[in-house]
Amino acid sequence: VIPAEFDYRAPRSLDQAIELLAALPDAKLVSGGMSLIPAMKHRLLAPAVLVDLGRVPDLDAIAARDGGFVIGARATHGQVGAAAALAALPIFAETAREIGDAQVRNRGTLAGSLAHADPAGDWPAVFLALGGRVSARGPGGEREIAAGDLFTGMLATSLASDEVIREVRFPAPGPRCGSAYLKLRQAASGFALVGAAASLRLDAQGRCERVAVALTGINAVPFRAASVEARLEGARADRAALAAACAEIAELDPTSDLHASADYRSHLARVYARRALERALERAAA
Ligand SMILES: Cc1cc2nc3c(=O)[nH]c(=O)nc-3n(C[C@H](O)[C@H](O)[C@H](O)COP(=O)(O)OP(=O)(O)OC[C@H]3O[C@@H](n4cnc5c(N)ncnc54)[C@H](O)[C@@H]3O)c2cc1C
Repeated sequence: VIPAEFDYRAPRSLDQAIELLAALPDAKLVSGGMSLIPAMKHRLLAPAVLVDLGRVPDLDAIAARDGGFVIGARATHGQVGAAAALAALPIFAETAREIGDAQVRNRGTLAGSLAHADPAGDWPAVFLALGGRVSARGPGGEREIAAGDLFTGMLATSLASDEVIREVRFPAPGPRCGSAYLKLRQAASGFALVGAAASLRLDAQGRCERVAVALTGINAVPFRAASVEARLEGARADRAALAAACAEIAELDPTSDLHASADYRSHLARVYARRALERALERAAA
């Protein structure tokens, strides 16, 4: 499998990268290349020019900032998983270690994963459940995109073709907060047959104050299970309540393929949503 011929540019600044993306017809940004290059090799994509983000400086920060956490566009899955700055949120390490293999984790990026919007990508679920935001810069300046506004379809986002995610931000968990990501890997590819990310905040009486559950690998687009969340808001947080809330997920619109039928995916969604919530609750109550 060999990609079609393409030109290659390696800008030394973010603004230069954006200028190239805006000026060159059929140009595409490449970061870790772990999704784009395979797609090019299979000739699913054949951009005329690749604009490489790899030599743009200052994009690999992983830090606590402004009451939350910032992850630069070039931070790899492996760096995110090992970052001391994110130790308060074990969901990051637990998600990173589920992604591909060591080579993929050493090159692929969290920001690239969000921009790629794979229906079975792991980070999109975590991004949705934690209520993250991306800062995206384009020719007209920088804007913020909230998690709920990023994914618009299968492999599609609200980013313009000349917009670059500069960093991804996540709010810091307060007291009595817990979050977790659980995944069932498809045996051959390692991608999620189902991935569930849950985030919970308890009030002083042990009731659910904020709940978010997001699923990947199920529908054509990663999504929040708002019906489950609504049943839990204000409810006593115990295992029985979590199980009851996950018995029915109104937002399910599962794909069916040779790896899993729609029925099986629906079943997995209910089971993994509950398990992710249970683990998030254990952490919130610890
Ligand atoms: C063998 C293998 C196994 C994998 N297993 C998993 C898995 O289990 N789970 C999982 O979630 N993923 C998996 N992946 C995909 C991997 O996580 C990719 O790293 C990730 O999806 C894309 O990140 P990247 O930096 O490699 O992006 P690239 O491949 O460079 O780019 C992907 C897309 O995002 C765009 N893009 C990249 N960075 C930015 C940015 N900063 N701003 C705007 N647009 C941007 C590109 O233009 C392109 O359209 C696997 C990949 C391989 C090859």
